Amino acid sequence: MTFANLTGLTALVTGGSRGIGKATAQLLKAQGAEVVILGSNVETVEKTATELQVKGLAVDLFQPDSIAKIESALPQVAPGGIDILVNNAGITKDGLFLRQSEEAWEQVLTINLQRVVQLTRALLPEMTKKNFGRIINLSSIVSHMGNVGQTNYITSKAAITGFTKALAKEVARKNVTVNAVAPGFVATDMTNTIPDQIKEKFIQQIPANRFGEATEIAAAIAFLASREAAYITGTTLHVNGGMYVGN
Ligand code: NAD
Repeated sequence: MTFANLTGLTALVTGGSRGIGKATAQLLKAQGAEVVILGSNVETVEKTATELQVKGLAVDLFQPDSIAKIESALPQVAPGGIDILVNNAGITKDGLFLRQSEEAWEQVLTINLQRVVQLTRALLPEMTKKNFGRIINLSSIVSHMGNVGQTNYITSKAAITGFTKALAKEVARKNVTVNAVAPGFVATDMTNTIPDQIKEKFIQQIPANRFGEATEIAAAIAFLASREAAYITGTTLHVNGGMYVGN
């Protein structure tokens, strides 16, 4: 018996040009899905799309017309529509709360929350019409634990958890599942900026004694995207080496 065979399904992975999104695109493709990756940088998107042999869309999600651009470009790259939406693109603009600028809050909430909501709103009607869909939102361990210097990021990711739970209840009847994956600390460009001595401190708090790999997050996303995960909705799958084991 094959497991998590995604043949016949098309996935859109935002932030699919690198890190967790790239690993996810690669795995979904390996499991048989047609995949479209979306990223902000034209060259990086093209490079990754060629490397993974998937379709690429270069759209800056910070731009107000980004969702309209995606909606008008999708029919060419995904003529059959999107069955699996992985809302993975995300940014951090860290700093102590009293030093975080209004602009940093706006950027983080726009990319990490508002565009997730808007893209989901754009793609959901087709899923409910088809009576099948998988929406997987990237949350974070820190939205469950708290973390110094990340009030804006954690606010956005905590909202994603609420959005996931509430929407899951609305669309379960239509066989559309909505789940979140909450990675712990994963070795990507996002965490590369953490100074080495701080990284060491985090590792001391991780029972698995290491940062996670992007492929380990991708595996959780691919599972939730599978047909076999049909009865799992509204949940958060924590992938963190044991760092946080609460709900
Ligand atoms: P990353 O920085 O390596 O990649 C982020 C991706 O988002 C890139 O592909 C980038 O092109 C895309 N992106 C950023 N701004 C964009 C914009 N304006 N328009 C379009 N695309 C944009 O990050 P990552 O570590 O792979 O993180 C992926 C997701 O996982 C994020 O939502 C992040 O918050 C979450 N996460 C990461 C970690 C970690 O430790 N790396 C931990 C918890 C949660």
